[in-house]
Amino acid sequence: MGLRKSLVVVAALATAALVQAPAQGQERGVTVFHGATVIVGDGRPPIENASLVVEGARLLQVGPSAQVRAPVGARRVDLAGKTVMPMLIDAHVHTSATAEALTEDLKRRPTWGVSTVMSMGTDPFTVLPMRARAIPGAARYFSAGRGITRPEPGRTTVPFWINTEADARAAVNELAGQKVDLVKVWVDDRGGMFPKVTPPLYTAVIDEAHKHQLRVSAHIFTLEDGKGLLRAGLDALAHGVRDRDVDDEFLAMVRARPNLVLNPNLPARGVRTDLSWLAGGLPAAELQRLEAENTDRPAAVQEPYLLQARNLAKMSAAGVKVVLGTDGNTPWQAHVEMEDMVLAGMTPMQVIVASTRNGAEFLRIADAGTLEAGKSADFIVLDANPLADIKNTRRMSAVYLRGEAIKPANAR
Ligand SMILES: [Zn+2]
Repeated sequence: MGLRKSLVVVAALATAALVQAPAQGQERGVTVFHGATVIVGDGRPPIENASLVVEGARLLQVGPSAQVRAPVGARRVDLAGKTVMPMLIDAHVHTSATAEALTEDLKRRPTWGVSTVMSMGTDPFTVLPMRARAIPGAARYFSAGRGITRPEPGRTTVPFWINTEADARAAVNELAGQKVDLVKVWVDDRGGMFPKVTPPLYTAVIDEAHKHQLRVSAHIFTLEDGKGLLRAGLDALAHGVRDRDVDDEFLAMVRARPNLVLNPNLPARGVRTDLSWLAGGLPAAELQRLEAENTDRPAAVQEPYLLQARNLAKMSAAGVKVVLGTDGNTPWQAHVEMEDMVLAGMTPMQVIVASTRNGAEFLRIADAGTLEAGKSADFIVLDANPLADIKNTRRMSAVYLRGEAIKPANAR
């Protein structure tokens, strides 16, 4: 993890979309972004008429413009009328399995405002060295490496397929040797198609992981497995409960575990939505395909979302730490998930905190997730305030990753 702290990228100011061309020698100079409403990302009320002072890849100061003192000669960028928020952290993705394709995945993320991804269990060990590579314009990459499941012939063969507690411990030992960022375990029989990781097996996984100071995140489906995993010391839920409404016993278990993290990964709502914000951000043929599927589905298709939305609202009210996850490799999906979380009953501010600071804390990134002095200059400039309508996170006028301007994918 220490290597990632050296991810210092010289700001490519000459190509910045919203700033004047810098004088020579100013490439690592200071820029003051002033006049915006700033959402810090930690849940405090937004700062009106704020200034962000950026030097190279770092935030030097963030605060009300009247209190921020910029160095003489700093370049100034007027953001009056804009809202600035931290870049998003997507804590549940499945990125590509080769270095070349993964690099493309990681470069696409910032164009949609995502600074960081955590790949959850489908990565061969050969791509793990990519975590330490500083790729200009690319999102930070975290990985659980190979996840752990029972034999699932016909599904991906990347994960460990375990049958015994000895298998479970051996798998975790290999993962520890690879210094994965988390251990991922799937506890799901996929509708009765496969044997499921049993309580003795997941208990062995969690016990062995904790011996190595590794945390465990579980893909679950049922409430019963959720309870069993929490009793066994699970650290994070990679999905919400999906078979029934959570009960008081489960919520009491959640309240008793203040460090538990929930990655809701809500399913599609099954209703027609406005996709016009994607225009220009993806190939026309792909947008056409999405529009063809963009229909109101029967109530039976919509029910999984409604169930998981009710469970998310209850878990959030119980105080669980929620993070953002999209469970796939679609770079713009974070914006859809944020809307789905708000429609489930979380406030826009709660969802923004989940998608920024909470993600950084979950991934133990000390220098991202909020807009504060000393942090990485990873922020999104929005044309409208997402606290008024969470869909405004899609209206990106600029993105700055480590102080470097990135053109938003859907910029008009
Ligand atoms: Zn997943």
